[in-house]
Amino acid sequence: MIVMDIKWISPLGDGGLYVLNTGKWRTFRPVIDKEKCTDCATCAHYCPVQAMRKDLKDKDSRLYIDLSYCKGCGICEVECPRKAITMVREEVM
Ligand code: SF4
Ligand code: SF4
Repeated sequence: MIVMDIKWISPLGDGGLYVLNTGKWRTFRPVIDKEKCTDCATCAHYCPVQAMRKDLKDKDSRLYIDLSYCKGCGICEVECPRKAITMVREEVM
């Protein structure tokens, strides 16, 4: 299983490396049903902004979504083999 412990998305721009808070706005957000989720990390492989996280220092840590980066694209919902992710409309932020 590959789960990346990436804390920042840091593209290279004119001003050098900078951090993008890609989850600042979105229309929908993913919610993981912990009863259905098997922690397989398939969703992490498909997420275009690498919003899936796991605490690598905690062996019991389960995968979760860092909403600071999630764009609400819904790819994880489609790709989850267990149908454990549901997109719900985002509240006004
Ligand atoms: S793909 Fe689905 S079952 Fe696998 S870790 Fe993600 S939410 Fe859980
Ligand atoms: S909705 Fe899109 S951006 Fe958000 S966690 Fe799922 S795949 Fe990643």
